[in-house]
Amino acid sequence: MNDENIKDREESKPSISFIEQFIAEDLKAGKNGGKIVTRFPPEPNGYLHIGHAKAICLDFGMAQKYGGKCNLRFDDTNPVKEEVEYIDSIKEDIHWLGFDWENREFYASDYFGRLFEFAKALISRGLAYIDDQPADVISSQKGTPTQPGTESPFRNRTVAENLDLFERMNKGEFDEGSRVLRAKVDMTSPNMHMRDPIIYRIIKSAHHRTGNEWNVYPMYDFAHGQSDYFEGITHSLCTLEFEVHRPLYDWFIDQLKNDDYRPRQIEFNRLNLTYTMMSKRKLLELVREGKVAGWDDPRMPTLCGLRRRGYTPESVRKFVDLIGYTKVEAINDVSLLEHAVREDLNIRAPRVFGVLNPLKVLISNYPVGKYEEVELVNNPEDESHGTRLVPFCREIFIEQDDFMEVPPHKYFRLAPGMEVRLKGAYIIKCDGFKKNEDTGEIEEVYCTYDEATRSGGEASNRKVKGTLHWVSAIQAVDAEVRLYDRLFDHEDPSGQKEDDYRSFLNPESLKVLTGCKVEPSLASAVPLEKFQFQRLGYFCVDYDSTPEKLVFNRTVSLKDTWGKINK
Ligand code: ATP
Ligand code: MG
Repeated sequence: MNDENIKDREESKPSISFIEQFIAEDLKAGKNGGKIVTRFPPEPNGYLHIGHAKAICLDFGMAQKYGGKCNLRFDDTNPVKEEVEYIDSIKEDIHWLGFDWENREFYASDYFGRLFEFAKALISRGLAYIDDQPADVISSQKGTPTQPGTESPFRNRTVAENLDLFERMNKGEFDEGSRVLRAKVDMTSPNMHMRDPIIYRIIKSAHHRTGNEWNVYPMYDFAHGQSDYFEGITHSLCTLEFEVHRPLYDWFIDQLKNDDYRPRQIEFNRLNLTYTMMSKRKLLELVREGKVAGWDDPRMPTLCGLRRRGYTPESVRKFVDLIGYTKVEAINDVSLLEHAVREDLNIRAPRVFGVLNPLKVLISNYPVGKYEEVELVNNPEDESHGTRLVPFCREIFIEQDDFMEVPPHKYFRLAPGMEVRLKGAYIIKCDGFKKNEDTGEIEEVYCTYDEATRSGGEASNRKVKGTLHWVSAIQAVDAEVRLYDRLFDHEDPSGQKEDDYRSFLNPESLKVLTGCKVEPSLASAVPLEKFQFQRLGYFCVDYDSTPEKLVFNRTVSLKDTWGKINK
């Protein structure tokens, strides 16, 4: 995606989304007493990813904008897949994004008692029954969208028998999978979700909050809408795949409610990104199989991965704002996300010098033993970032590819007989180099400098075509730099044959450079601090970094490697 496209996007975005219009209309009409209450409802079965950020920004954002509240509700209806580790990480990531639920931290499991009572009420009213058939038989009777389903032979059990069986299921008398509770809705409904959906199943694993209190657990579809109702949610914002579940949620609420209030569900399109996979199940597989270093591997689309990579919460929010909310599924270009983080770091990140592949340059006419400091601007986008002093001396490092023995046409870097400016310091001229005749490797480059060309000096305005970044070979600090590329080399890695995504893993997605040299001001940098290495890109200090060995992750390269240096 190029700049023009991005600009068009920014300009064509509607100022308020259809969701916001609905909310504003409801508030204006005085619905729900003029209140707005939303919720973000993650299932604690994995870490949050950038797709969840889209939902979070909307749920919390709408409440914030219209003076309402947003609850955090863990939809913890499946004890087999859920863990406390995920709950903690979810809370940390929402806070990191910049949102807060105050004391409104709820769990679907808070409502297990009410849901159980409601299920019994449905049974008593002849609206639910115990089915003894195995899951595969039940699903084979579901029919197809054009053919009605077949009624279960257990559909017309007596209320007394159903109640008795349900209680005994919960006491643990029956094996997992041997019986389920189904809502008695309509096996001929054109909506498959209305064909007597399963609402309770037997699970004998301990639950992270309720322990062994329950042997039956509500299905997500039986918990979600009612939980919204119990919490007084006014606007239940969710992704498009739930549109077809809405009639079922409404049906449950109709059976439950004794007032006018009901949550209004509004669906929007999921976030999908090119070269990225969002399924929590598959991301968990990557982690378990060691294909990545963990949930917070900087190549992961998780919020903790993006954070470690150097993304700021502002950049994620800006990206979400840029893509907007619609009613059609689409796949967004990952370069739009990269654009958002570049824009944000451009104003935020101090400029520094780091040399990834060092080549020593000896300035032969610079006095031996002399050291000086040159003053460099920290951020040309924002004067308030001030300046810093960077040491300069007779031996410096430049990038290996900033020197060529035989330069091609229009190579404006260093080569025998050519001059370049060392940013913030002097103009130097190359008059020799040392080459390893066996390997062909350039080992050292020899230059002379012109004292009058010092930045700010009498000849400092002399025109030279190239400007290089550099570090003092004596004072530079050692660093490891991890260069990341896309985790997948296919645009739609998970949209292919089931589980084929592994064959699209990009073998070049991580390149570790050791022996990098960075300017000494970075010696005290701490994890998550962000910098622009001039001419190279944005980098973030990794958690593995120590004062003895600095470690940086490349967040994103500079789009225009050459444009920025002369600013
Ligand atoms: P699962 O596949 O396990 O259901 P999920 O990604 O839907 O995973 P949830 O924990 O149920 O995970 O998601 C919490 C909320 O985030 C839901 O309201 C869901 O609609 C929303 N959400 C999840 N993925 C995306 C996405 N890619 N884009 C926008 N919203 C999303
Ligand atoms: Mg879900």
